[in-house]
Amino acid sequence: MAVNIKQYKKIIKELAPANITLVAVSKVRTPVEIMELYQLGQRDFGENYVQELVDKYEKLPKDIRWHFIGHLQSNKVKYIAPFIYLIHGVDRPNLLKEINKQALKNDRNIDCLLQVHIAEETTKFGFDKKELKVFLAQITANDTAIKYPNVHLRGLMGMATFTFDEAIIQQEFKKLKKIFETYFPLKGLAGSDQDNKALKPCFLSMGMSADYSIAIQEGSNMVRIGSLLFGARI
Ligand SMILES: *Cc1c(COP(=O)(O)O)cnc(C)c1O
Repeated sequence: MAVNIKQYKKIIKELAPANITLVAVSKVRTPVEIMELYQLGQRDFGENYVQELVDKYEKLPKDIRWHFIGHLQSNKVKYIAPFIYLIHGVDRPNLLKEINKQALKNDRNIDCLLQVHIAEETTKFGFDKKELKVFLAQITANDTAIKYPNVHLRGLMGMATFTFDEAIIQQEFKKLKKIFETYFPLKGLAGSDQDNKALKPCFLSMGMSADYSIAIQEGSNMVRIGSLLFGARI
């Protein structure tokens, strides 16, 4: 399966002026396919499966920024903790606790996005609006913030309902953007380098091949695109 270079260039041209990060979703793609985009300057790649990601990390250039965009099991955090650039799908408090533990072990900070459940499908993961509010209030309260000093919460991620009804998708992205604006940049986070945290840009990761145009319209600054670049997955 060949990489669609024309499509890649078109998307980059669309995103670059608006400072939107393209995460090329390379799950099930070969290292050779990934290198085709790498040669064109692409550095952000997204993967869903831990073992596959670790294999690719070992084989591919070390300046690739690896994004974990799948559902992450707590017992697998340790395998990606040494090198992961951004974990998009933090959908429960316990996972954050484990990420903090593994980050500490590796003597680094790990950037994370909280996943928010905006879609109609119940099979999708994430905090709902109310859970998110409670959770963020807990971890930003001064006495408990120190619980996760090696985790940097950099923003939110969400997936819209799989539907051809664009109005539904638009409405869901609007909702996520509003929640994002309410909380980020996150204030009141304790930890060793509070000031640095505040200065870092925040990410709103929303939009995939089928709906990234709507996502951008609604204020996304990070899109995760796979099949448009690499062809349909089987
Ligand atoms: C697979 C995947 C994508 C990319 O999907 P495409 O439709 O191929 O662009 C984006 N985000 C997540 C969370 C995914 O699992």
